[in-house]
Amino acid sequence: MSDAEGRIYLIGAGPGDPELITLRGMRLLKACDAVIYDHLAPDELVVLMPREVEKHYVGKQAGSHVLPQSEINNLMLRLAREGKLVARLKGADPLVFGRGGEEARFLREHNVAFEIVPGVTAAVGAAAYTGIPCTDREKASFVVFATGHKAVDSSRPAVPWEKLAQLEGGSLSVYMGVGEIESIVEKLINAGMPADTPAAVIERATMPTQRRFVGTVAGLPAMVNDNNVKPPALFVVGDVVKLHEQLDWFGQGPLHGLRILVLRPSDQGGNLYQALRDYGAEVMPYPSIATEERVDERAWATYQSIDCEERWLIFTSENGVRYFMQQFADRVGDIRKLSAFKIAAIGFGTVRALKSHCLTTDFVPGVATVKGLVTELVVNFDWSCASVVRVQGNLSDSTVPDALTGAGAEVIPMEVYRTYYPEWPIGFKRKLLQTPPNAILFSSGSTADGLRAILNDEEFRRVTVKAQIVSIGPSTSRIIESHGLKVTLEAKEHSVPGLVQELVAFYRSQGK
Ligand code: SAH
Repeated sequence: MSDAEGRIYLIGAGPGDPELITLRGMRLLKACDAVIYDHLAPDELVVLMPREVEKHYVGKQAGSHVLPQSEINNLMLRLAREGKLVARLKGADPLVFGRGGEEARFLREHNVAFEIVPGVTAAVGAAAYTGIPCTDREKASFVVFATGHKAVDSSRPAVPWEKLAQLEGGSLSVYMGVGEIESIVEKLINAGMPADTPAAVIERATMPTQRRFVGTVAGLPAMVNDNNVKPPALFVVGDVVKLHEQLDWFGQGPLHGLRILVLRPSDQGGNLYQALRDYGAEVMPYPSIATEERVDERAWATYQSIDCEERWLIFTSENGVRYFMQQFADRVGDIRKLSAFKIAAIGFGTVRALKSHCLTTDFVPGVATVKGLVTELVVNFDWSCASVVRVQGNLSDSTVPDALTGAGAEVIPMEVYRTYYPEWPIGFKRKLLQTPPNAILFSSGSTADGLRAILNDEEFRRVTVKAQIVSIGPSTSRIIESHGLKVTLEAKEHSVPGLVQELVAFYRSQGK
């Protein structure tokens, strides 16, 4: 059927809430080798994809310039010809004002196999999240989806606004109309639509920062101007608008409408994104650090040859546990071999990660810092003939080896991962600068170092200046403050759930 081995999946990502993608869309997204995504595709869907997946952002670039369609087409073609499975992730539904049809035609002409996965189109998403149905037994027996964008090329058929003015018994959803609303309303009213026909504008539908304004069709242009409504926004006209009084439900939760920048690595971020969204927040899932596996073969060789009776494993991060266990599974395999070791750990996430492997700790210090750990270990145990495997990332210092070697132990530093600052696609910075976050969550000192490294001075100032600076604990706070920021909230319990609790308690106390 096709010359090329690759395949393109045109997938509808839904209108904004990342959970509105279909199961099929999500499954294919997880299986693909590359993704090409638009400005309106939810960032979270892309951020959560593994690092190996090639990610191509083709939305608006810094100067609002959009990648020409021909370049997007050529990119799809190139990737497919390389034999890749490609997710072409599009905002909402691919075939409703989404150019999905054009792209699929192009692929067919070039003999590239494709599939199309529907998504929740903006009008349907907006209906659910505002309580303004598209149709209703009493108020609307038909619905029209129209584009408000003035056709620039004559090849596109014009919208017959004069006919749509006869809307009685139906409803009208206008996409891409923000810039044209004045002339659209004029055409509708001139053609006989009653000026007091109920109408609404819905900005950022289905996202926690969704705004909905309700009035009459004649009032739409003023509604847009007075409230500075910006795309993406949708206009709905018809008696169905009145139903929002009974059907409205969206917009609860202590963090409703707040934008929260989450910097922790995406492979550890999923649950946090979810928790914040459940509290009503809009998550800006832009990791400022990432980790990758490192295998220290020499350390593993030493590990295998340990012959002393007293053996310890020291973990100080969730990542340490995760990467160590991965490598242990490949090299040793039998979990019972770990029973020869005592385990010391710091941090809620570290202990939880150990538990997920059915491992408990022999020692957790009262003070959850590396310094606190070694101080207490030295006092409480005899190290004169002990072997210690210090599981770590590349950023760990020599506190553990120094203290325990001093106390008589043989310390084997084992680096199992490396932390680095990921490159951000241009869309992340643009969104952060356009709509700066209300709060920034720093779950480690390195997330602060990472943010500082990714942004230039002016960008760093603009992104942080109005935000609540939320820190997981004192050592993180010190690093945040070394970058010139003032920590406004510090978690009492030094864990990611503790961080969220602090944030929620703060906004609750503000009467949010
Ligand atoms: N394929 C998309 C439409 C793309 S055209 C779909 O099926 O919905 C872009 C227009 O869609 C925007 O100008 C806006 O009118 C509408 N739109 C997309 N997402 C939206 C959202 N979350 N809220 C309101 N309108 C949205």
